[in-house]
Amino acid sequence: MASYVSHLECAYTGQRYEADGLHTVSDAGKPLLVRYDLGRLGDEVQREDIESSDEPGFWRYSPLLPVDDPADRISLGEVITPLVSLERSAHTLGARPGKVLVKDESRLPTGSFKARGLALAVSMAKQLGISHLAVPTNGNAGSALAAYASRAGIRTTILCPYNTPEINSQETKAQGGDTHLVNGLIGECGRIISEGSDEVGWFSVSTLKEPYRIEGKKTMGIELAEQMGWQLPDVIFYPTGGGTGIIGMWKAFAELTELGWIDCKLPRMVAVQSTGCAPIVRAWEEGEEFAEFWEDAETDASGIRVPAALGDFLILRAVRESGGFAIAVSDEEIHRMVEAIGHEDGLLMCPEGAATAAACKVALEKGMIGEDDTVVLFNTATGLKYPMPAVTSLIDKDADIDYGLFGY
Ligand SMILES: *Cc1c(COP(=O)(O)O)cnc(C)c1O
Repeated sequence: MASYVSHLECAYTGQRYEADGLHTVSDAGKPLLVRYDLGRLGDEVQREDIESSDEPGFWRYSPLLPVDDPADRISLGEVITPLVSLERSAHTLGARPGKVLVKDESRLPTGSFKARGLALAVSMAKQLGISHLAVPTNGNAGSALAAYASRAGIRTTILCPYNTPEINSQETKAQGGDTHLVNGLIGECGRIISEGSDEVGWFSVSTLKEPYRIEGKKTMGIELAEQMGWQLPDVIFYPTGGGTGIIGMWKAFAELTELGWIDCKLPRMVAVQSTGCAPIVRAWEEGEEFAEFWEDAETDASGIRVPAALGDFLILRAVRESGGFAIAVSDEEIHRMVEAIGHEDGLLMCPEGAATAAACKVALEKGMIGEDDTVVLFNTATGLKYPMPAVTSLIDKDADIDYGLFGY
């Protein structure tokens, strides 16, 4: 059994590589993209075959994924994540009720969309016979790697900056990851991992330093298309850190178009960052091809606290080709949105997801998007992993109860 993969390709120079064997980055030091024989795939697989698949979650898109043998697919019971429309909180955004949909990725195993990318990276590691994986992480990548690798019987070493939220390092350890804190930032964790590759023999699945996490994240785009009846929204707001998701979705739309499975206008892709760490926004505003390192990165939305992205030029390309834009919002705006959407619509957003809502509000106010546009926001993780408001009210059961307290 073989996949439809034809070769790998340097995303910058176009240089071709054989698909077999271990790959990190290209000779130019840039990400490698997986290419498929879409002609043969289109002859042998129809859209209807996908629709009638009973594989769990994104594994229904296996013809467009690189895993050869179904036995190597590592699954933890993935689901098709729902599109939940903002109704009452739409007013807070200045949007029409029902026009803004949240793709709620918090429902995936380990509570974040990192499951998509790491499921693919781990499945390919299994296919390629890798026995030890390592990753530097601010949180969600570590727990997703630990979970899928444990299930595959693969060892993991996970390095987190010392200020990683405890819940993230702990969930990682609880799912079998050999987890260490490092008294530095994510870049230092990455350096230790790449320098240790020869010494220890682990393989790094650091963002875009291997070709397969993008393929997993690509399934967000295919899933969205199928879910919308092979149509796409007018605008996608995506919380952008390393950019795997925005790059992956843009790749998905190109492949689906080439296959003829979609035939619609592609969405405008909006890269959302925090004003405390906005290298992509700065590069977009200045018309640069690459983004400069962002000094002193600081935001509560840890998933998008990424001062330098290896795929910067690919993120910027997707934004520009799609007629989208890049926009930064403050942590204050983010926290206000977490509260508004939780209170008004009962949906607990993670700060990264709330950033997309805050950006959508600004874009509507400034006329960067229209109120007739159908908009999809990505809620990339569960809000349960982040600090929540404390409950401070204590009622004394033995005293007279003041029912005025509850409001009537
Ligand atoms: C990793 C992460 C992001 C950023 O994802 P990329 O696709 O790498 O840009 C956003 N939100 C959360 C919660 C994350 O864990």
